Amino acid sequence: MGRADLLLERPESTGLFIDFDGTLSPMVAVPSDARPAPGARDLLERLARKFAITAVVSGRSAADLLEWLGSGIEIWGLHGAERTVEGRVEMSPRVGPYLSLMQEVRRDAARRLEEMKLSGVLLEDKDVMLTLHYRTASDPVEAERLLGKLVLDLASRHGVVQAQGKMSFELRPPIELSKADVILERSTELQLTAVAFAGDDVVDLPAFDALDALAAEGRMTLRVAVASPEAPPELLQRADVVVDGPKGLLEWLRTLAD
Ligand SMILES: [Mg+2]
Repeated sequence: MGRADLLLERPESTGLFIDFDGTLSPMVAVPSDARPAPGARDLLERLARKFAITAVVSGRSAADLLEWLGSGIEIWGLHGAERTVEGRVEMSPRVGPYLSLMQEVRRDAARRLEEMKLSGVLLEDKDVMLTLHYRTASDPVEAERLLGKLVLDLASRHGVVQAQGKMSFELRPPIELSKADVILERSTELQLTAVAFAGDDVVDLPAFDALDALAAEGRMTLRVAVASPEAPPELLQRADVVVDGPKGLLEWLRTLAD
């Protein structure tokens, strides 16, 4: 059961926050190829009916997640820059002022990538942010080195924020956007007594930090790490529960739903 029973004591005031890539969906070489693991959508809908909130919180666009997961759950895209409300995607009012700046960054990044002639690097346009993927690069080690320099330069030149993910770099508006904010905000709004988060990546560590803060307020918290060969050791060390890949997470979530 893996401590799932702690979340079943008061489901009506318990929240589940779940990452998408590598957590609910197996990692894929081309990001647009990602899809939820079989059965994930139905399972999430069942959890949403049982718990106070079942939310997917991801760096992906909310529109993609809405298409794949439906409107039965709460969806937060782009690390909290977007959310779904009754089947529609709404942008956080905080990011609107940065749309034109991010367009400029995207044009600059595309031009510089073309000059660098790095084969197999994908630029993913997410409107309010952009992601450079090097999983499919012909030389990923060299691509990481060169892209690392490029994103640092773009970040300082345009005054935006850079972050590294699994085989990718991201450029974001210069405002605080993180899964942690979503979890803290919703936990407070809904007065949750227990909060769980499941993730697989370094970008999920701030979500664990958020759970630490909620635990300090006296709420019950549960950190779930989805293990893979690429999972960061710190995530696994800090986890209360470790599951084996998205399939393992679905099995664990099923024990909550049943
Ligand atoms: Mg992930």
